[in-house]
Amino acid sequence: MRFDLITIFPEFFVGPLNYGIVRRALETGLVEVNVQDLRAFTKDRHRTVDDRPFGGGEGMVLKPEPLFEAVESLLGRSVGEASKPSTTDSKTAIVLMSAAGKLFRQETARRFARLERIIFICGRYEGVDERVAEHLATEEISIGDFVLSGGELPAMMIVDAVTRLLPGALGNEASSQNESFSGDAPGNVSLEPRATNGVALDFPHYTRPAEYRGWGVPDVLIGGNHAEVAKWRRVAAADKTRRNRPDLLGRE
Ligand code: SAH
Repeated sequence: MRFDLITIFPEFFVGPLNYGIVRRALETGLVEVNVQDLRAFTKDRHRTVDDRPFGGGEGMVLKPEPLFEAVESLLGRSVGEASKPSTTDSKTAIVLMSAAGKLFRQETARRFARLERIIFICGRYEGVDERVAEHLATEEISIGDFVLSGGELPAMMIVDAVTRLLPGALGNEASSQNESFSGDAPGNVSLEPRATNGVALDFPHYTRPAEYRGWGVPDVLIGGNHAEVAKWRRVAAADKTRRNRPDLLGRE
């Protein structure tokens, strides 16, 4: 899997790429990351990437030319009407990070994990000239209903979520099955029929010590009865989903 990150702050990614599962995936060659400085595709002396909005108003908008040229240079071809599926290689996504995009979910991460290449466009300021969404990006994605100051963190979150789903990324230390939002989350089994659609949360985890500051852990987890443990986890996951994310129940 190759990730390209187009940004005006290339240094931004140095830290986040350097830890844990993502770092290991880079070291083993499971993923390749290319950080592309948008300013390399400017032609003026000031390396201008932004301009004032047509129609007036606050703030600045990222200009289309450097973004189109950056993507075209990465792909080695012109893009033009890239958002039309027929003109896009189905193994490559060009993702515009945008608070006004479609919501990123675990199912999006699973879909992305089947691609060979994802090119991220990180916005800044008031956002990005809309022609990038219309004619360059194949998808416009938001990571949640809040507004951040740039697309770098959102893009990095997607890199992380997708990388850990790639076969071989997690090693033995963790599993991407049986976790929140995975179709196999044990909580799903005990949810009402209308909610058995793979969006339940993970069950609570405990580790040693068995008593800490007077707080114990559920007896069943120490009892050694695997069937009872499995049952407790299903119920606890369902309870937690109801408590923290009632919106997930009944979602298709
Ligand atoms: N004016 C825009 C916000 C611009 S924030 C609006 O009201 O929708 C600047 C940049 O940060 C955006 O271009 C986008 O790339 C990124 N960004 C902000 N919030 C985001 C979110 N929730 N998901 C993904 N990207 C986001």
